[in-house]
Amino acid sequence: MTGPAEKEVLLEVKDLNITYGTGRRAYDAVQQANFVIYKGETFGLVGESGSGKTTIGRAILRILPTSGGEILYKGQKINGRISRALDKQLTKEIQMIFQDPQSSLNERAKVSYIVGEGLQNVRPDLTPAQREEKVRQALLDVGLLPEFASRFPHEFSGGQRQRIGIARALIVEPEFIVADEPISALDMSIRAQVLNLLRHLQKERGITYLFIAHDLSVMRYISDRIAVIHRGRILELADAEELVTHPLHPYTRSLLSAIPMPDPRREREKTLLVYDPAIHDYSAEAPQWRQLRPRHWVLCSESEAAQWISQEERS
Ligand code: ADP
Ligand code: MG
Repeated sequence: MTGPAEKEVLLEVKDLNITYGTGRRAYDAVQQANFVIYKGETFGLVGESGSGKTTIGRAILRILPTSGGEILYKGQKINGRISRALDKQLTKEIQMIFQDPQSSLNERAKVSYIVGEGLQNVRPDLTPAQREEKVRQALLDVGLLPEFASRFPHEFSGGQRQRIGIARALIVEPEFIVADEPISALDMSIRAQVLNLLRHLQKERGITYLFIAHDLSVMRYISDRIAVIHRGRILELADAEELVTHPLHPYTRSLLSAIPMPDPRREREKTLLVYDPAIHDYSAEAPQWRQLRPRHWVLCSESEAAQWISQEERS
């Protein structure tokens, strides 16, 4: 058993706020987010569309400015102003895989350019021939033919395009990858292949993932730990199996009730839980982040804590 104290923290998000727009147009897309990601793990961030998942991912990639709190990578603050040296390091070490392979590849560029582009910044020392060799290897690493380098994105299927996106991220040998719903735009039949590829790459290279999804069944399969986000707030965080077998927050319970069950009889008899945020009365007591079970945290008031625990014990 490795306790959390023995694991190395790679990324830490502290009281993070992200606001779109300013003044009367300001919209708080992420509020008071807190979590750590350990080196080598897959940290799942799950929530419905519009809950702020991509916003968090883009802030970590420094594509979006933050409005409060800190993002620490290997103990160094990476939001706000950073040094050129740190910027260079992060460009190499942190990469993103995008949700939609149909729109995330430059249609006018050849695959060799798309996949090799990141090397221009990170490995300016390489000769064109060495760069070409790296592109060949990256394509092989994701299960594509090296000959694809001279083709254009439109010649490929969705799954192949996503593999090209993965090769592009991998080529700079990143340590940390934000995978933003990497399979949700793909056909059902090829989702497992792409998931397995991501798992295989992690095993082989010790890559750490922030894996974003809206689907808890995918999360359970791929993640070590899972955080549940709703309307910009993280509501629950636990080890993957613990979260799925002992969900405490009513929102997490509703997400879980929506997962299809393999047993058709139980599928017909189960109740779909609907989450209504109005059930919380936080006027008298503001919710707090509480650990209610081992390594299992929930955002709740004291009375909710008692209620949700006894409810979970009865179910
Ligand atoms: P998710 O990835 O969980 O679907 P997002 O992070 O994309 O959610 O969006 C979170 C919220 O922020 C949504 O309400 C969305 O409408 C809003 N939002 C996203 N991008 C922008 C933007 N560029 N300007 C204003 N609001 C935005
Ligand atoms: Mg998104």
